[in-house]
Amino acid sequence: MDCIFCKMVNKEIESETLFETDTLFAVRDIAPQAPTHLLIIPKKHYRNLLDCKDNELLSEMLMTAATLAEKEGVAKSGFRTVINTNEDGGQTVFHLHMHVLGGKPQTGRMG
Ligand code: AMP
Ligand code: ZN
Repeated sequence: MDCIFCKMVNKEIESETLFETDTLFAVRDIAPQAPTHLLIIPKKHYRNLLDCKDNELLSEMLMTAATLAEKEGVAKSGFRTVINTNEDGGQTVFHLHMHVLGGKPQTGRMG
């Protein structure tokens, strides 16, 4: 499948993994929108949130966002977690992922 995040999982393209479990991994976004901009990516391919019914995985993604925000030192100042879904949601990579943004105020409009 021609999916950039699956290629990361399969080591077909290089990426620096910040954190990894059996089910997910985290990398820095290649085009950061904030001083800390991480992506939490399930190893299994789901097209987006609509395609994923795995409670445990979704919960692990959220818990990982909090853990990594702490590690990055942005937890206390604050951070934003975002999952974009389909066209109006601004999704550009069609493999489920969660953004973690911090290190500057995220108080602007969401869109
Ligand atoms: P979304 O718009 O929610 O689908 O987000 C996709 C994100 O993936 C964007 O913020 C991109 O900058 C990021 N991205 C695309 N390719 C890579 C890559 N090779 N490594 C890290 N981040 C990437
Ligand atoms: Zn994929």
